Amino acid sequence: MNKAELLAHFTAYAPHVDTALLAKAFDYSTAAHAAQERASGEHYFVHCNAVAQSLAEWKMDLPTICAGLLHDVLEDTSISEQALRSEFGEEITKMVVGVTKLDHLQFNSRDDAQAENWRRMLLATAQDIRVIVIKLADRLHNMRTLSYLREDKRKRIAYETVSLYAPLAHRLGMFKLKSQLDDLAFMFLEPEAYEDLSRKVSAQLAAREVTLARFKQDIEKVLANTAIPRRILARTKSLYSIYMKMQRQDKPFEEIQDALGVRIITDTIANCYALLGIVHTQFKPVAGSFTDYISIPKMNLYRSLHTTVMGPDGELVEIQIRTEEMHRTAEYGIAAHWRYKIGEHQRDIHLEEKLNWLRQWMEWLQDLKSPREFLDSLKTDLDFRQVFVFTPAGEVKALPAGATPLDFAFCVHTEIGMACVGAQVNNKMVKLDYQLKSGDICRILTKKGSKPKKDWLSLVQTARARSKIRHYLREQGIVA
Ligand code: MN
Repeated sequence: MNKAELLAHFTAYAPHVDTALLAKAFDYSTAAHAAQERASGEHYFVHCNAVAQSLAEWKMDLPTICAGLLHDVLEDTSISEQALRSEFGEEITKMVVGVTKLDHLQFNSRDDAQAENWRRMLLATAQDIRVIVIKLADRLHNMRTLSYLREDKRKRIAYETVSLYAPLAHRLGMFKLKSQLDDLAFMFLEPEAYEDLSRKVSAQLAAREVTLARFKQDIEKVLANTAIPRRILARTKSLYSIYMKMQRQDKPFEEIQDALGVRIITDTIANCYALLGIVHTQFKPVAGSFTDYISIPKMNLYRSLHTTVMGPDGELVEIQIRTEEMHRTAEYGIAAHWRYKIGEHQRDIHLEEKLNWLRQWMEWLQDLKSPREFLDSLKTDLDFRQVFVFTPAGEVKALPAGATPLDFAFCVHTEIGMACVGAQVNNKMVKLDYQLKSGDICRILTKKGSKPKKDWLSLVQTARARSKIRHYLREQGIVA
């Protein structure tokens, strides 16, 4: 998109917002990256422009698109944070700084538990959910141009995408983006399996077109005399999700039971139920297959009616019925909830953003195992009362805010805590009362035979470290 197209696209969904700043960000980023090229040989700004375009497609707010245009300015040009702040203000600058911070985190672990910690750390580091959305747009374009990078880099980035960013997109309810990221990563991680599966799926799709056409015809016949608006779409699954199913069930593609998926989109909730009734009188529903996510939405705000019926050729058809608005939420997730309130105070817009953000956090935290754990993390994570600190080997440890190198040492291993004599953070020596920050890399120095000191009790935050130290001091008769 050129500048005029981007502005026009934005104005189409936010007609009353002044676009002067957006135009300025476009020119500023173009000039800042003028001397740079991407690995593809393209002008660097092509990347910033692609990021802004995705954000506009997701109908994000103006500061977010500006920050998208400017997201690599601090990292890759000589422009300072201060200069950016004086040109574009605090809100946009904060987002750019947030994205830059995320760029410095590189995920290498193959451990699922670590991936979960990482995803939480990304959210905590970002603080503003819009920073994550910019990072996702950035990742989408990087994945689309990944073939220009070296093989080892390609694999690392593709792996990071599938284990961190695609699940994050899913958590934010951005299902379309999730499957785009998954399939791009799949293509680079397993090129042969990808080629093979993509051939088989397109062959199947051709056969399914026929069934879909008959199904549409039958439905349209019944609906001909009604005024119910409808769009009937075939639902496509991502290649990666089919591949995962094959792995899970240890079966070849031909043996995977996968019903034809159809979506019917209409205008109102009443018409959703009307369409459901019509579908059920026309085709025999499979017992127990009906689920009403309209009266009881999922935590990530997903709403639809789900049912499975016997199709015109006697095979199963999975049907989702929803309104246009529900469809948007299902495709774009959190991004679908940015609403422009015209003529209201800035504060109200922020409130709405916070509410969205909170809802997403609630859903995120719901995945934790027990309600107790849920409540605990609600307390800690929501106020960012947690820090995420790296071991020199790149493992992440979650600690309460205010935690010191001693807490970290005991968190890594009791013996390391017991024999601790000092600590380095980001390659510099620190005192044992240093307060760790998210993203710090902490190395504990130990000496054989060294033992805990009495004053350590006042230096630790975690129960684990405190009880280990106290236990030792008691044994030695140093404390009661
Ligand atoms: Mn970038």
